[in-house]
Amino acid sequence: MPSVEIVAVGTELLLGQLVDTNTPFIASELARAGIDVRATQSVGDNRARIAGAVRTSLARAQGVVMTGGLGPTIDDLTREAVCDALEVGTDLYEPALRQMEAIFAKFGRPMRANNRKQAELPAGSRPLDNPHGTAPGFIAFASDEKFVACMPGVPREMKPMLREQVVPFLRERFGARETIVTRIIHTIGLGESEIDHRIADLFGSYENPKIALLAHDFRADVKIMAKASTADEADAMIAPLQAEIVRRLEDGVFGYDADTPASAILTLMRSQQRRLAIAESCTGGRIAAAFTSVPGSSQTFVGAVVAYDNAVKISQLDVDAGALERNGAVSDEVAREMARGARARLGADVALSTTGVAGPDGGTAEKPVGLVLFALDDGTENSRTWSFRLEGDREAIQQRATMTALNLLWRYAKGQEP
Ligand code: ATP
Ligand code: MG
Repeated sequence: MPSVEIVAVGTELLLGQLVDTNTPFIASELARAGIDVRATQSVGDNRARIAGAVRTSLARAQGVVMTGGLGPTIDDLTREAVCDALEVGTDLYEPALRQMEAIFAKFGRPMRANNRKQAELPAGSRPLDNPHGTAPGFIAFASDEKFVACMPGVPREMKPMLREQVVPFLRERFGARETIVTRIIHTIGLGESEIDHRIADLFGSYENPKIALLAHDFRADVKIMAKASTADEADAMIAPLQAEIVRRLEDGVFGYDADTPASAILTLMRSQQRRLAIAESCTGGRIAAAFTSVPGSSQTFVGAVVAYDNAVKISQLDVDAGALERNGAVSDEVAREMARGARARLGADVALSTTGVAGPDGGTAEKPVGLVLFALDDGTENSRTWSFRLEGDREAIQQRATMTALNLLWRYAKGQEP
């Protein structure tokens, strides 16, 4: 089976100063196109080492897909290194030169010799247009019909070049390849081992489509991947398995693919024409952040009060000073008052509050680190509180509390007993 390797260029990547998001992006686009990625490499801005990385990858795979180091500066060495690896000289690519001249003329800036360098591509290569920047990409060819596709490092320039020019080239070069379609079934409030227990028998019996269980952010997803010659065919293979998994995990499935717990809650509440507010103490705004990251959330999500100090609980949420004194901030009564106050003050139909001991200090025998209380208020007898003892360090407790809040809200909005 033909395969490619990915090489990301940039010393910043090796110093931990820049997180490589290009490699996973390229890898997932290639997977969708049914192109096998054999290995990936990261290499610094060093001509000999970049050339070495290209040779290594070309020895193992049919092609190399590269990003980074195509700019005009002294540390942009990918062009030269690819010439070294393939033992070819350069050709001037006139259209790129003209385009650069036009861009510089438009901004009234002089074009330097180092910009001209960007239009010099390895001899015999196929240029790749870059409508979002000055440096063109290119596909250079090794004598034995292997190839090296080079794209800029800037994600905004690289992504369209990959999708519109490199992937079509790869599909053509590798013939009609199989395509891989992935469906993600998102769950909340079901432990990994519980999910495994309910669907374990399906894992063994399926190679294609294939099932994987992914735990992250204190919840778990089930991923179904199908390989077929068309996306429709792959979808048809996924459908019955998806239905079976959803049937078994019914009480925990909140959505698919791009859905998030917050987007699922907002969709439910929007259809019920109810608006939501949050009062956060120990979660510090994380629940509000989950809602505001959903486009269009303002229709349903009113807002939140991060009431950390007791004085703010009193002044902004009308929590009773006496209740704070009697029971402390981490108490059923205060949680209840926070939710009620947020609902009234923010003019929402439903409000949820959090208050807890995130640690590492401040725990007592009665109220240990990890104790988090949640209250939901909708102005009816359905209003109630929950108490959880969450595990982990401060960050983990805050994240778990956020996910727990989303789980409670989702179940409430579905009309399912949380
Ligand atoms: P330029 O013309 O801007 O110099 P270039 O092709 O030379 O582009 P680099 O110099 O390697 O690309 O990187 C430019 C910027 O692009 C980096 O500073 C970084 O912000 C981003 N970038 C580069 N490589 C990656 C990567 N692998 N993942 C995410 N971002 C990246
Ligand atoms: Mg650069």
